[in-house]
Amino acid sequence: MGLSLEGKTCLVTGGSRGIGKAIALKLAEFGADVAITYARSANAANEVKAEIEAKGRNAKAIQADAVDFAEAEKVINEIVSDWGKLDVLVNNAGITKDNLILRMSEDQWDDVITTNLKSIFNYSKVAARPMMKNRGGSIINISSVVGISGNAGQSNYSASKAGIIGFTKSYAKELASRNIRANVIAPGYITTDMTDALDEKVLEGIKEATPLGRAGNADEIADAVVFLSSDMSSYITGETIRVDGGMAM
Ligand code: NDP
Repeated sequence: MGLSLEGKTCLVTGGSRGIGKAIALKLAEFGADVAITYARSANAANEVKAEIEAKGRNAKAIQADAVDFAEAEKVINEIVSDWGKLDVLVNNAGITKDNLILRMSEDQWDDVITTNLKSIFNYSKVAARPMMKNRGGSIINISSVVGISGNAGQSNYSASKAGIIGFTKSYAKELASRNIRANVIAPGYITTDMTDALDEKVLEGIKEATPLGRAGNADEIADAVVFLSSDMSSYITGETIRVDGGMAM
């Protein structure tokens, strides 16, 4: 029997562009109803919503700053009241504000930690209740290889991404008895708007450090999300899956 997400409802934070968009579209392709959130890109988010609907699935595009706990409550309440339940939460929204520690401002530190890490607390906490009521769920948190190996110029980002791994293991232990699984995906270098900001020399270095010798694409992250969303991963929790062409091994 093929893998199917038919009947499942999913929420992807930061689904307007890049990896989050690819995740949202692939979840829909496999049969799920999908809601996305976004911060600023209303047009792009509405296009993703239309693409999901064109696949014959229900969709929502909701503007909600991932940093804001009350907005997380609003988003998840809307999904549960309209669709009856939330099966899968993908915490994907994230930003970079790179700088060497000596030059890093307090704002650069705070913005990245709150957007990337507090957001995970917000949505995971709020999702727990409806998932408990529904007797199960899957939470998938998007970290990064630099959360495992560190990276000069990204102390704020690496700290947030390592924090996600610790948070997810704790969450997995707290909620396993309720049949809620929580796992991490740690992407390597994936071509998106986020990495378009890197200069050529840095990109060449990254490719050299990747055993598979190339950048990944957002669809390859989405494939791992589909697996962790499905019942085919029913005995996996607290795990970090690297999808990085071998970079951090
Ligand atoms: P992009 O910059 O292409 O997209 C980021 C997405 O997050 C957008 O949808 C954006 O919404 C949303 N977002 C940003 N801030 C907020 C916020 N405060 N509230 C709600 N949504 C927000 O990034 P990527 O697709 O490259 O990255 C996605 C995730 O993958 C991130 O967590 C990133 O750290 C991680 N990752 C990426 C890698 C890569 O190589 N690209 C490698 C490893 C990890 P809007 O369009 O409205 O701004």
